[in-house]
Amino acid sequence: MAYVIEGSTGPWEVVIGLEVHAQIISKSKLFSGAATAFGAGPNTQVSFVDAAFPGMLPVINRECVAQAVRTGLGLRAHINLVSRFDRKNYFYPDLPPGYQISQYAHPIVGAGVIEIELADGSTRSIGVTRLHMEQDAGKSLHDQHPAKSYIDLNRAGVALMEIVSEPDLRSPEEAGAYVRKLRSILRYLGTCDGNMEEGSLRADVNVSVRKHGEPYRTRCEVKNVNSIRFVMQAVEAEATRQVAVWESGGTVDQETRLFDSGRGETRPMRSKEDAHDYRYFPDPDLFPLVLDEGWVEDLRRALPELPDEKRARFIREYGLSAYDAGVLVAEQATAAYFEAVARGRDAKQAANWVTGDLFATLNRTGRTIEDSPVAAAALGRMLDLVADGTINGRIAKDVFDAMVESGEAPDAIVEQRGLRQVTDTGAIDAAVAKVVAANPDKVAEYRGGKDKLFGFFVGQVMREMKGKGNPGLVNEAVKRALT
Ligand code: ADP
Ligand code: MG
Repeated sequence: MAYVIEGSTGPWEVVIGLEVHAQIISKSKLFSGAATAFGAGPNTQVSFVDAAFPGMLPVINRECVAQAVRTGLGLRAHINLVSRFDRKNYFYPDLPPGYQISQYAHPIVGAGVIEIELADGSTRSIGVTRLHMEQDAGKSLHDQHPAKSYIDLNRAGVALMEIVSEPDLRSPEEAGAYVRKLRSILRYLGTCDGNMEEGSLRADVNVSVRKHGEPYRTRCEVKNVNSIRFVMQAVEAEATRQVAVWESGGTVDQETRLFDSGRGETRPMRSKEDAHDYRYFPDPDLFPLVLDEGWVEDLRRALPELPDEKRARFIREYGLSAYDAGVLVAEQATAAYFEAVARGRDAKQAANWVTGDLFATLNRTGRTIEDSPVAAAALGRMLDLVADGTINGRIAKDVFDAMVESGEAPDAIVEQRGLRQVTDTGAIDAAVAKVVAANPDKVAEYRGGKDKLFGFFVGQVMREMKGKGNPGLVNEAVKRALT
């Protein structure tokens, strides 16, 4: 079902294009040797280059270039062997040189694609227009002094990738899925940590609305949205606002807006600047960036298995549904955990335990899979105990809970708590006899044709046996006793 906004004049389609800023994982900055670690004291990670002292020259960081190329390859994009750095000129108190070094006309990465996955299991290909490298600016701090603003230049010069999408997205859900997938790819590649709370990944959300079949209308850009939920909310709020503007006879002006998450609305920040406002020109301090084709190929060969490939493999090798596979590959650590449990075992069972009980436990305890209270080997061992009949599927839940609580091994829990499955038909028959004797009226009803009561007897017998009866044998014994 296509996403539309119902206005008084009928349905409106929403058009979205995202510009994502991703901080490159690298020990030092794009053009200086200063450190990039998050959370250091203000202005402790600033070189003379970052502070734009006169006569300082930028020197490009090879690792940052490699990271941008890896990312381009991961987005199945064209790598431009020749790219160039430009100066984007503007005044800002936290931008000491008065310009940002960026790539404008000749970015390092050209067109690529991101496959997004939607809740109904379907996928769509979203075009990536380009990826370019640029420096981050510093930070103005307005909350440190009643009358003064302070400047922290730690972030100045940190390497960013700007990843621009085509206006291919059509709903808040798709916009959210795009950021989620992009973040997943970046994390697999190890090129950006994707941490939106710390600002290492932030999105500018471009939104317009149109009637079906029309050319695109004017868009507005919502700046610096820092969570996936806010991206989705910003799309919804901004599209709804634009529909109201058009329907009241007004026109949407191209402008830059901010999303106020408290109020769930966007408000104007400034009228949109055009490229010519920045007086772009090639940075005279930097040569064009020329990449060696063999070096790019080396990077390509060293890429890890990426989410799309892993997802396809999980479907093929483990027979998982597209949905389960997508959930399991979203994070590398989850995929690795799943594979450790599934290898040599019933993979669907493994997937059910990981996406079911384990995820629920992690959510409840606020833990990540890396510090899961139940290790993959322990969960695997528990599945072995089910497979070889030591415990039944019902008791497995209790064993799992006990593993979460105590951190003990499944075998120890089964032995200490006496949870072995009972296959002794004598014991099962005794339990059946007890239940039959206690429920003469129900027995009569069953024999009188009320078949549905069969489940009641099985349940009672299981209860009598504290859940440990072998389900198949219990079924047979109940059948024998009642007929
Ligand atoms: P600029 O260079 O002015 O920022 P771009 O052409 O680079 O403009 O587009 C910036 C972003 O806006 C891209 O992600 C693009 O997909 C998106 N975009 C362009 N036109 C529209 C539109 N009509 N509606 C929604 N998004 C759009
Ligand atoms: Mg732009």
